[in-house]
Amino acid sequence: MSFIVAIDGPAGSGKGTITKLIGDKLNLVTFDTGAMYRAISYHMIENKIGLDENEKIKKMLEEIDIKLDFSSGKQELYLNSKKLVTELRTKEVNQIVSQVSHIPDVRWAMVKLQRKLAEGLNVIMEGRDIGTVVFPNADVKIYLDASAEERAKRRLKQNIENNITNMSYEEILENIKLRDNNDKNSEIAPLKQADDAILVDSTNLTINQVVNKIIDIIKKKQKQQIIDKKVYEETPDTPFKRFRLKLVRKIVYYAFYKLVFRIKKIDEKNLPDEGAYIVCANHVNMLDALAVVCSCKRKVRFICKESMFKVKALGWALKLSDTIPINRDKNDIESMKRSIKALKNGEVLGVFPEGTRKGMEKNIKAKSGAAFFSLRTGTPVIPIGIQGSFKPFTKVKLVFGKPLDFSEYYGKEKDKETLEKVTNIIMDNIIMLTNKNK
Ligand code: C5P
Repeated sequence: MSFIVAIDGPAGSGKGTITKLIGDKLNLVTFDTGAMYRAISYHMIENKIGLDENEKIKKMLEEIDIKLDFSSGKQELYLNSKKLVTELRTKEVNQIVSQVSHIPDVRWAMVKLQRKLAEGLNVIMEGRDIGTVVFPNADVKIYLDASAEERAKRRLKQNIENNITNMSYEEILENIKLRDNNDKNSEIAPLKQADDAILVDSTNLTINQVVNKIIDIIKKKQKQQIIDKKVYEETPDTPFKRFRLKLVRKIVYYAFYKLVFRIKKIDEKNLPDEGAYIVCANHVNMLDALAVVCSCKRKVRFICKESMFKVKALGWALKLSDTIPINRDKNDIESMKRSIKALKNGEVLGVFPEGTRKGMEKNIKAKSGAAFFSLRTGTPVIPIGIQGSFKPFTKVKLVFGKPLDFSEYYGKEKDKETLEKVTNIIMDNIIMLTNKNK
């Protein structure tokens, strides 16, 4: 597993310096991808390869060997075994590098190389398209910006430090504006802020302020990832855990649901004693999932928003009952896989097809997750009608329906119409049960 920080932004926004400082402080391998495009530009100038000589460029890309070495603590670039330093920042290279970086073959060769170089490492990589193209799933994405004038001032200072004195401030400013224009309006990998990138404007900030700001963002993300990982970690199924779950369910059922809500189970015999099944109920209140968990003879594993696991005592209870976390902001493959695995293991899955509390009342279309799991794993669905409002000392009824057999649709979980049909049957049964024996 690697951790990737993507720093994108226009020329001279301070990416190079900032990336290096953060890399050192946080022990991340620091990549300057601009240097790779500069190396190609240098090679093209040296070998007199024109910008539009596509065949020659293709051949060059096959033959060229770019290596990055970090052993000295900073990135050193070798092109065909020759170390390049000042060669990368000459006026000639500056003039063509942006155009070179927009040649599709060059672009894809470099993107591939960048992905390969970062494999398995914790890296901070700076460039133009790191968060948008190279690593669209980067853990942290920063878009570092500054005014063109401020960036020209910085580049001039940097050039003087590197003994490059052949460009005036005005020339640098013009060059920067030209490159901004090229980079932003390029058809291929244009410079733009990724939707999920955080904008940091460094115009009026010192280097230290920018570094600290970005380090804060990275650390917050790392902390969050540790919490998320804990949420998704399953606790082992030991006899002690099973005993505790049984005990907690009994206590909560009698001391809370029986006493406070006078809960009543109707047609409990409809729940099979063995084999996998999915219980699907209407979602009326925060307390109804726990009511089902404590009322059923067997362990029911509900699927529940991952944010709930972060609430201390609740998180403990959810883990104890092997609740399956789901992140609704993304296509949560991990959650789906876990639900399918549970059913294949012969366990009981709990789903609220409404997806949210009182979804029916709010006219929200029922979700097809339960139907999907049923058809995918060949599992019957037991509908449950929950009656009552969960106001203290009022009655709550759980009405269990007969198992719904969808065997004629098994294996058709990818067919949208079938999923909708099955979801509607489940919902019709739930609605029927919420009106039964009233
Ligand atoms: O960052 P630096 O100025 O060294 O980059 C040189 C040029 O390479 C940039 O102006 C930009 O056109 C291009 N570049 C790019 N994609 C990257 C890094 C640099 O297009 N990831």
